Parts: sequence; structure tokens; C-alpha cells
Amino acid sequence: MTSPTTVRTLLILGASGDLTGRLLLPGLARLVSQGRAAGLRLVGAGSDPWTPEQWRERVRTSFAAAADAAGTEGLEALTALDKDTVYHQLDVTAAGALAALLNSLEAPVAVYFALPPRISQLACESLRPEEVPAGTRLVMEKPFGSSEESARSLNRTLVRLVPEDHIHRVDHFLGKATVLNILGLRFANNFLEPVWNRHHIEKVEIIFDEDLALEGRARYYDGAGALRDMIQSHLLHVMALLAIEPPATIRERDLRDAISAVLRASNVNEPFAASTRRARYTAGTVAGKDVPDYAREEGVDAGRGTETLAEIEVMIDNWRWKGVPFILRSGKALGAKRKEAVVTFRPVPHLPAGFTGVDSPNQLRIGFGPDTLQFDVDVNGPGDVFSLSRATLKAELSASELLPYGEVLEGVLTGDPLLSVRGDTAEECWRIVEPVLAAWQQDAVLLEEYDAGSTGPAAWPTTPRAK
Ligand code: NDP
Repeated sequence: MTSPTTVRTLLILGASGDLTGRLLLPGLARLVSQGRAAGLRLVGAGSDPWTPEQWRERVRTSFAAAADAAGTEGLEALTALDKDTVYHQLDVTAAGALAALLNSLEAPVAVYFALPPRISQLACESLRPEEVPAGTRLVMEKPFGSSEESARSLNRTLVRLVPEDHIHRVDHFLGKATVLNILGLRFANNFLEPVWNRHHIEKVEIIFDEDLALEGRARYYDGAGALRDMIQSHLLHVMALLAIEPPATIRERDLRDAISAVLRASNVNEPFAASTRRARYTAGTVAGKDVPDYAREEGVDAGRGTETLAEIEVMIDNWRWKGVPFILRSGKALGAKRKEAVVTFRPVPHLPAGFTGVDSPNQLRIGFGPDTLQFDVDVNGPGDVFSLSRATLKAELSASELLPYGEVLEGVLTGDPLLSVRGDTAEECWRIVEPVLAAWQQDAVLLEEYDAGSTGPAAWPTTPRAK
């Protein structure tokens, strides 16, 4: 179900940037070609002196894949948007420049800050509340701040300009379909809720292993690392969705309140040498391709000690979850892609004598993109009915027709902040990881090594992938 578009103009700041060309415009194209952004005008802006034709060419190129797959109506909608789009050259940090552009556009406008984070912040600081037309939506990319304090300061700047529910802090990692798949599984099945707690669940692992290495992104990544890049934002949100109390509705207020309550109760406990791990890849081979030592990659400052694999154990200190470790792990240049949550149940209290064979705890695996569900259970036989063996029940979950950024933009254009990160949550995520970052900075936790193409350091005991 989609609501009608409320935004009339989408203004993309950072028109020449990587995010705009590779993710935003293709995401928008799919949305438009499905008739889900009728009447929208697209405006690009950047510091380059581009001609209108240069911008249109960029839009056309980024729309190509969606245009190839579109029917007649979809193609017409794409052509109309692309014919009508305009480009403005401006320095968004110059006094009055952004305000003047904003006021010249048909309202309501959604302003997408596809800019370096520091420039986005300066651009917002350059705006005065009275210069921002009613109904304006501000779309902020990650990273949102670099600490709890800086996120709080950025939040203060933004809420001076527009109400909180008009601020979209983007987290494209969890698309709408994935969020709803998790909520559907948890809250539409009565058999799960009675066991979804500390009495029956031993641990929850949330794993996002990438086989990609640095891919020329040293400028950003070497200053961030795996903990800031993936765990601080995305994986803490997956954790929160798995751990929330049942909300009364799947509307933004109820859902985001529930997420916020989980994160407020979450901590990484000291000593960090026991509750966290970090590692950096050395030379190896991934999918037949040689990967150099991370420390020797172009643009990397080896002395910084940036981790390319991070793992933290988060404890949620509330009635439901007290004592259950949530292990969040993400890294690069690993032997295989893996994007899943593994929920491990406690063993049965007593296995009747006489059974033989496998007796392992039940595991529920939720795979992300494509979304899947696997449930490992012990069953009898085959052959000897006294002998237990493992069976896996599998299902594919619903997929989205949109690209992740199409889902983000649909939320923005229809004025639905359901999937946007709320201001207090952005601050909480930094609060949770900041003590760990400080301890790592002081080398309180050993920076380990793993070969590119391996599963990570041998001593990291993660539940293996599903077969
Ligand atoms: P790029 O460096 O590729 O692009 C930045 C854009 O900002 C350029 O178009 C640049 O234009 C423009 N710009 C810089 N300064 C000014 C200014 N003063 N006035 C107007 N325009 C300006 O960055 P990305 O596209 O990679 O990233 C943009 C944001 O998205 C960042 O916050 C990043 O963290 C986030 N992000 C990026 C992802 C990605 O895969 N790229 C993924 C997820 C988030 P010019 O070159 O003309 O100066």
C-alpha cells in the first residue's frame, strides 16, 4: 500500500556525487517508473558549473536500467521527469544561497543532503527558520554526527528548522519489506512470543560479512572502520527490531518509540577486551581475486589502526532480555557474503534417555536481502527412530519491488518517517558505541589480523553459516 506523494519537488544537493548517481537516482527511477511519484519535479544542485544538458545526461544515464524494464506508462513518467529537471550551481554553505533556491521551488520541497557530512551540517547552519518554507522535509545521510554530542548538536540545528517528523535520517540498510518481514514474523505468530525472551533464548547473533574489500573507498572508510560504518547505525537497528516489545501499531510513533526504548536499555559492558573484538585484513584471495594487505591499500594510514572487522556484545538491560548477549559483527574482505540474524535457543531441560544422535539447540535464521527464514529443528530418523537428526524448515520472505533508496525516497515523498532514524535514536546509537571506540583508540583491545578471503580470525567463535 502506498500513500499519495505529498512532496512536489525533490532537491538533491550533491548532484555530481557518487551517492546521487549510483544509488539515489536509480532508486528514484524505479519509483517513478511504477507510477509511485506522480507530479514530482526533480532539481539537482552542486558546486560544479554544469550545463542543464550535463545534468539531464546524468539523470538519463542513472535512469537507464529502470527505463529498460519499464512499460509504456513507466517510460512516459521517466521521460517527463527527466525533461522537466533543472540544475542549479551553488555553494550550499554560502550565506543565503540555499535559502534563495529553496524559496524559488514549488513547495513542499524535500531537500536531500547528498553531501559530505561536514558540508551538510554547514548548509543546515546557514539556514534561518524563517527562510524554510512550510512543509519542507530535510533528508540527512549517514553518518549522522560523529559522536553522541555532535549528533545532539546536529539535531538541535535541524529541529530549529522543521519539526522532527519532517527530518528523515536515512538508514537504507533495512528496507521497508525487511522491517515488515521481521515484525510480521515476530508479531503475527503466537507460538514465538512466549519463547522470545531470556528464558528460552541463549544468544542472538547479527552478522553482516562482506566479501568486498576496500574498493577504493579509503578516504571515507579509513576514517570510519567497521564499527562506525556498519554496527553503530545499521546493525543496532536490526537488533532493536528483533528485541522490541510488541507495538500497538506499525506506525512511526509506536514503532520508533519501541526501538528507542530498546536502545536506551542497551550497553556494551566493560572490560571491552572481553566484550569486543577488532581485526584488520592482510593480503589474501577473495573469489579468485588477489586482495592486498589493508595497511598497504592506497590512501590508508596504517598507523590509524582502522579495523575492517568488528564484533561487539550488546546487553539489553530490561526484563525480557537481561543476560542474553546480542553479538553484532561486520567486516570486509571475508570469504563469503553473509547477512543474517541467528537466534539460538536454549537446549531442552531434559532429553529423555534412549535418544541418540544429534541434540543441538534450535536455531532460527533470518537472512536479509534476499529475505529468508530457516528454522533448524531436531527430528527423528530416518531409519532408526530413536536417533535424532537435524532438519531445516525454509521459507523465502516477501521482497520489495523497489531498490533500497527507492524505499527511502518513497517514505520521504509520502511524508512517512516510519523507516527514518529518529533524533533520540541517532544519539543513543553513538552513546552505545562511544566507550568502545575510546577503548580501541587507546589500544585497550588487541587489533587482530585475518587473511582476506578467510572467515576472520580463527579464534572468533561465530555460529557457522547455514548449509
Ligand atoms: P561525493 O564526494 O561523491 O559527493 C559529494 C557531493 O557534494 C559532490 O557532488 C560535491 O560537488 C558536492 N559538494 C561538496 N561541497 C559542496 C558545496 N559547498 N556546495 C555544493 N555542493 C557541494 O560523496 P558521496 O556521494 O559518496 O556521499 C554523499 C553523502 O552520502 C555522504 O554523507 C556519505 O557519507 C553518504 N553516503 C554515501 C554512500 C555512497 O555509497 N556513496 C552510501 C551511504 C551514505 P563538487 O564535486 O562539485 O564539489
